[in-house]
Amino acid sequence: MTDRFIELDKASKVFRDGKQEVHALNEVKLQFGSSDFVCLVGPSGCGKSTILNVLAGFEVLDSGTALMEGKPLSEPSMDRTMVFQEYALFPWMTVYQNIEYGLLHKKGLSREDRREIVNRYLSVIELTGFDEKYPHQLSGGMRQRVAIARALAVKPRLLLMDEPFAALDSFTREKMQDELLRILSREKTAVVFVTHSIEEALKLADLIVVMSPRPGRVVREIRLDLPKPRNFGDSLLVEYGQEIRRLLHDDVT
Ligand code: ADP
Ligand code: MG
Repeated sequence: MTDRFIELDKASKVFRDGKQEVHALNEVKLQFGSSDFVCLVGPSGCGKSTILNVLAGFEVLDSGTALMEGKPLSEPSMDRTMVFQEYALFPWMTVYQNIEYGLLHKKGLSREDRREIVNRYLSVIELTGFDEKYPHQLSGGMRQRVAIARALAVKPRLLLMDEPFAALDSFTREKMQDELLRILSREKTAVVFVTHSIEEALKLADLIVVMSPRPGRVVREIRLDLPKPRNFGDSLLVEYGQEIRRLLHDDVT
């Protein structure tokens, strides 16, 4: 059993767009533990980013509850950080400054403490020596590694990732998935990772949450108690993959 780290219950969110109402989330229930890797899959518009924004404290629910260890998630905090698909680094800052950024807002860290942490994460993402480079001097994969380092450097308890590898070519993407698993094997962080790729979810997730749109809701949760790295020949994984594909196809409207 996992601990009750994050709990969404009857979580609902409606956006008003002119006269139209969009039910982005409709009574979503979701619970996971403090070291779970959760993948959200589902078609565009089913509320995946809205869930991340609620967990980050950027959006507030209209009704229902969003709790972390029993306390309401009502505002942003350094213990929950986000990695976006792209363009999330500050282009006018060096790699070093980008990773250091969140640490400047943490109390009690000296310049030397920050240097030590930044250097450690540069080494974790295998970009030692790139500290003085600017984002435009890096490849897409390198930029995403910096974004991950920046998000992890503040030691968040929950890492939120919104299709972080979607803009990368398939070779770089696979490499990044492996690196992320390697990094997370050393950090105790829960992850909520949004992806359109069923393969990516089967490779990374301890819990796959399948969603459907209008109104955005959870249609299936699959807990994967299989060791990583995953063997894609495993008959259980093949079955789950087929089931998810079926669920997503049923929902195409
Ligand atoms: P996903 O990430 O799964 O593609 P989102 O969570 O971004 O879906 O959006 C869910 C629904 O809510 C969509 O129909 C989207 O257009 C709508 N929506 C999201 N954010 C806003 C907003 N700030 N204002 C109005 N509508 C929004
Ligand atoms: Mg989205």
